Amino acid sequence: MMMCDVFSIASRLVPRDTTFLQASEVPEEFREPGILSGYRACPATVRSCAGSLVRASNETVNFWTHFIPGVFFLLQALAHMGCSEGPYVVYLFSVAVFMLTSSLAHGFWPVSTRGLDLSFFLDYAAMNIYAFGSACGNYAYYFAPGFHDTTLGRHYVGIAGMLSPICTLIACLSRYPGCWKMQKISRLAGFAVLYTWTNLPLIYNLTVTQRFDDLANELSHVVLLTIAAGVYGSHWPERWFPGSFDIIGSSHNLLHVFGTTAVYYQFCGLRKAKNRGFVPGNSADLQIFSAQVTSMMASVLMTDMVIIVTCLLSKARNFRTKFKHEDF
Ligand SMILES: [Zn+2]
Repeated sequence: MMMCDVFSIASRLVPRDTTFLQASEVPEEFREPGILSGYRACPATVRSCAGSLVRASNETVNFWTHFIPGVFFLLQALAHMGCSEGPYVVYLFSVAVFMLTSSLAHGFWPVSTRGLDLSFFLDYAAMNIYAFGSACGNYAYYFAPGFHDTTLGRHYVGIAGMLSPICTLIACLSRYPGCWKMQKISRLAGFAVLYTWTNLPLIYNLTVTQRFDDLANELSHVVLLTIAAGVYGSHWPERWFPGSFDIIGSSHNLLHVFGTTAVYYQFCGLRKAKNRGFVPGNSADLQIFSAQVTSMMASVLMTDMVIIVTCLLSKARNFRTKFKHEDF
């Protein structure tokens, strides 16, 4: 097919009437601090949301910076299915779920007036699913030999599996009305606890066994994630220069870019470690562990779904009750 044919099909699919709004034209709950333009109308059709993603909206960069890497990790996961690399596949799958869920939430939240809540809930769940997937990969390939027989080693994956939905619930509850400072602190604390737990192999290898394999990859991963969290939490640079980073360069864009680079470093390190073999035991142990983490991942996914549906229903009820009271 000629290149011009591709462009003519694309231009027919993209609606021409997509208009973007100023911050003053959208409800307060949709506004981001320091972002003054590029907002999409809500509710909107799926087609108009898709169209906005190939134009300069304030979600375009957020969508593509997770969608392209998400497809890459999904292809990686599919390519390794059935290769007796269970923990590695669970890890790759968790990254793909994280990135693709996040990109779709960013791209299509305006299709419903409650879509913004849903997109945040999905985003929190996806991040914690990824954290659990990382714990599975770390346990299988990163920990120094001997760790798996310690009390901490025996409970590492199980605790990560429990913390993942708990942290999702805490993050979702932080979107209910209340003191915003406390909301932000509890949301960040929830993530920090799980990510510290997930990165125990690095701490253990550094402090107890002095094992420095893949140190550069792991350290780059942690440093970049810390920068990403700092930039996101401070809303830099748009809070300092309102209106200058509406389309590209906002703190959320930087969060995605730093976060994705951090994940890529982790992926490179884990791929190298995986090629050295399954640390805790032989191939029979690997099969048992693969079955365990696959069923744990299914439980985490189902628990997250229950949490998201419950939070959505209760937020919708709060919303209706508020308007009922305001009618009086
Ligand atoms: Zn995001």
